[in-house]
Amino acid sequence: MSRKLVIFDNDGVLVDSERISHRVLAGYLTELGYPMTVEESVHHFLGTAARNVHEVIADKYGGGTLPDGFVALWHERVFEAFQRELEATEGAAKLLAELNDRGIPYCLASSSDRSWIDLTLERTGLRGHLRPEQVFSAQDVGGVGKPAPDLFLHAAKAFGVQPSECLVVEDSPNGVRAACAAGMDVLGFTALTPADRLRDAGATRLIGSLSEVLDHR
Ligand SMILES: [Mg+2]
Repeated sequence: MSRKLVIFDNDGVLVDSERISHRVLAGYLTELGYPMTVEESVHHFLGTAARNVHEVIADKYGGGTLPDGFVALWHERVFEAFQRELEATEGAAKLLAELNDRGIPYCLASSSDRSWIDLTLERTGLRGHLRPEQVFSAQDVGGVGKPAPDLFLHAAKAFGVQPSECLVVEDSPNGVRAACAAGMDVLGFTALTPADRLRDAGATRLIGSLSEVLDHR
């Protein structure tokens, strides 16, 4: 069956932001006396809400607490790093241009705030490939992020297609769970995430590069 809509996650899929976010987070937590490597940060926090950082630290360090304003400060540091370093994922611009040329509809659906999404698209130059009506954030569905299926279902509805006609590209276990819960086909993107974790979340097909997306359509 030919899929009608390709839905991309943003962080870690279209833009190479996860590497930067986790390096900054691991460094900040280590500075605060909670030593953490980038790999551990990816393991605990990839594709989860910021509040989970408090829970994991409390759990891992037996009741450890983070300073007031921690999340805002962490985001401030990440924003600064993005301004300097953030790039589109290799092959992202080419893939979106090709989908556009072939008349294949596509969109972006991210649990992040719209301001965050906008920042990443401006900085990486992907804005030119995504019109506002092709961008969905959790704010469009009352703040309910992945792993709930709401955001993906909302995107499908906006494009007037059934969930079974969608192909989702996701790099986080929670994103894969959201796609499965929505009844959509999903490609697990293993750029940073261990393949096992995506498989455990329900991804039956994995890709290591965005250039493989068209092969799976
Ligand atoms: Mg992601």
